[in-house]
Amino acid sequence: MTGDLEPAVSVAGARRALATAFREAGLDTPELDARLLVGHALGLDRAALTAQSDRTIRGEEAERIRTFAARRIGREPVARIVGTKEFWSLPFVIAPAVLVPRPETETLVEAALGVVDAKRRQRLRIADLGTGSGALLLALLHELEGADGVGTDVSPAALGVARENCERLGLARRATFVACDFGAALGGGFDLVVSNPPYVVQRELLRLDPEVRNYDPKLALDGGVDGLAAYRRIAADARRLTARGAHIIVELGAGMADPVAAVFAAAGLAIRAVRPDLNGVPRALILRQAP
Ligand code: GLN
Repeated sequence: MTGDLEPAVSVAGARRALATAFREAGLDTPELDARLLVGHALGLDRAALTAQSDRTIRGEEAERIRTFAARRIGREPVARIVGTKEFWSLPFVIAPAVLVPRPETETLVEAALGVVDAKRRQRLRIADLGTGSGALLLALLHELEGADGVGTDVSPAALGVARENCERLGLARRATFVACDFGAALGGGFDLVVSNPPYVVQRELLRLDPEVRNYDPKLALDGGVDGLAAYRRIAADARRLTARGAHIIVELGAGMADPVAAVFAAAGLAIRAVRPDLNGVPRALILRQAP
């Protein structure tokens, strides 16, 4: 890497060296990435890093820091290097088989909590189609103590990650996981169906950031020639899966609100609302099975 660590560098010096190297490499958040990776290499959280900022880095620590820095400069996401990502303030284990949970997907959790607000403590059945790391389902079960749910994924490796997250978050009693394509193997009666399906238009796949293109599973990104392939599958099953009055909430790619709404309207679902993410991009489409 450029900005290699000098001998006997301090913790603070190592952070500065990495931040400089990351900035020169054109990374978006060089200071943040440097703090997270130095912290991970030393096994220190943010407060401990600050408390130990003057101490000298040992040889094997420097070696770990250099390795992590080289991986990050090769555009491997920080979450994949450290092996975890926070979603809805909960820690999720990440592995190559799953998409790194994105902050904008928290918009779906907010939307879901909004539609079930009056029923927070009631028994609710939730399905998360294409669950990946389990982020959406497990965040919802964490919030809704009366709910239980099913996460599906075509990837058995992804389901392994989701199950591990489920155990770690203490939610195993209320969640099950099923290997299938979206809702294909599920019966009906769900009160809430959520999904962050693959929605990237095929010809855009090569234009994604290297962090996404080279590290997120293609299966979790590829939405077919028009980006709508997964929504069509979900829409085809939506009425069968849901109880009367149930809500269905799907994540939207940028600019996809109208075409996705049209897919679900054609399948007989009512469009209730579109909720923007923190950048103002319409992100969560809220649909309802007519009561
Ligand atoms: N939001 C992802 C991205 O960064 C796409 C994930 C998806 O297709 N659901 O491009």
